[in-house]
This record gives sequence, C-alpha cells and structure tokens, in this order.
Amino acid sequence: MIYNTEGIVIRSIPYGETHAIILLLTPTGTVSAMARGAKRPQSKLRAGTQLCVEGVYTLYQNTGMGNVQQFELKNSRRPLREHLDLAAYAAYFCELVSSSAEERPNGSSVQYREFLAVLDRLALRNDEPSDISRIWEAKILRTLGAAPNWEQCAICGRRCESSTRYSTADGGFICDECSQTANRRSILVPRGLPILLNRMTKAPMERLGQIRLTEPTKRALLTVLRAQLTEFAGLSLKSASILDSLDIS
Ligand SMILES: [Zn+2]
Repeated sequence: MIYNTEGIVIRSIPYGETHAIILLLTPTGTVSAMARGAKRPQSKLRAGTQLCVEGVYTLYQNTGMGNVQQFELKNSRRPLREHLDLAAYAAYFCELVSSSAEERPNGSSVQYREFLAVLDRLALRNDEPSDISRIWEAKILRTLGAAPNWEQCAICGRRCESSTRYSTADGGFICDECSQTANRRSILVPRGLPILLNRMTKAPMERLGQIRLTEPTKRALLTVLRAQLTEFAGLSLKSASILDSLDIS
C-alpha cells in the first residue's frame, strides 16, 4: 500500500553507492524505509534523508521496509547539521528517541511533538544545549519506564522531595532515614533536585520556560540521569560518548 505520513529522520545509513536507508519518527511511531537513488546530487529524495529533516513522506510498504516514493520538505533544521556541537547533540537526541519509540502504528503523537519541540529548542540556542539534553534524557527515561517518581524515596516509598541523596543501587532518591539505616551507597546532590527532575520529566517542552541551572545542579543531573539511562534503562549510548569526547555533554 501507498500512504503519506509526516515524519522526521532519526537515522540515516548509506546503502550501496546511491541509496540510503532511513528511520523515520512519525506521529504513529517509527518506520524504516529505503530511499533509492537518494545519494545522487539531483535526487528529489536527497534532502529527505538527512538527520533531523522533517517532511511529508509518501511511502510504499508491503511487508517490512518501506520505499520512499516522494518527499515534501517542511523543515530542514539546517543549523543542527552546520554546527559541530549542535550536530553532536542532535545525533544524541535522535539516538535516544530511536531507542525508546515504538514502531508504527504503536507510537505516540505526544512523543513526536515533544521531539520536534526539543530539536527546535536546540536550534534556537537560547538555552545551554547540555541543559536541553538533561530534559530530553529525563523524558526518554519516562518513555522507557525507567523514571521513578523522583519525589518518592526509592526504598520506603515515602514522599521526600527535599532528599539530597541518590542511590545508584535503587535508581532514585532516598529519604534521610533510609540513607542512615539502609546500607546503601549514595551520592550527595543539591537540595531540590527531586522536584526539578519531576518537572523536567512531566512538563511539556513549551511549558518549561527558560532554563537556568547552577553548576552543581548541572553536574548532579548529568550523574543521576546517565546512571539511570545505563543501569536502569539498559542503554549503551554511542553518541553520548562522542559528546563526552568533545567535552560538551
Ligand atoms: Zn525512605
């Protein structure tokens, strides 16, 4: 069958000399498709195979991988490919979303819209890209079911919004009592981090306003979210190590 769908490229792999295989995030989930001849300079599909490009795709799909028949550009997001730091972040955001999104038709239109919003925010450069990264990581954890209620003690379940300790073994913050009685290795974090994390996890992108984080908060968020993504969501993040090597995570 042939159908039209909005979509954004979240992975693009050259195939042979002239083709490309793309993974699209659409409002109803991910779909992979072959774009034949897309690497030829004059190809009309060429623009539709670049990372973070958004458009309307006409796909022919029988079983398995689709075939891109036509592409109509909506947003090229050129700044995300022209600047090295933004490109590295965009690749990371794409990797995160591709590891958490469901295949079509089981995907989420909310996640699709949030992903467009996070990329637009990155391109605007009003916030530190690393801060936007933390928000996207927090939201991805929720999608993967690896985000606890951050304001609840991960051991006893009591409300502990002012907790200042994160337990790597329990994957969450722990209350003062549990940190004294339970034999847990935990790290000290700035007060208020549980409330901040809950807000980053749940508030829609457009409601988050401008982000102003102190250096200790930034460091703590990075530690907590990376631990949660690798230990509890089981992700091994290739593009995160690229960010780390550029020292801009
Ligand atoms: Zn407790």
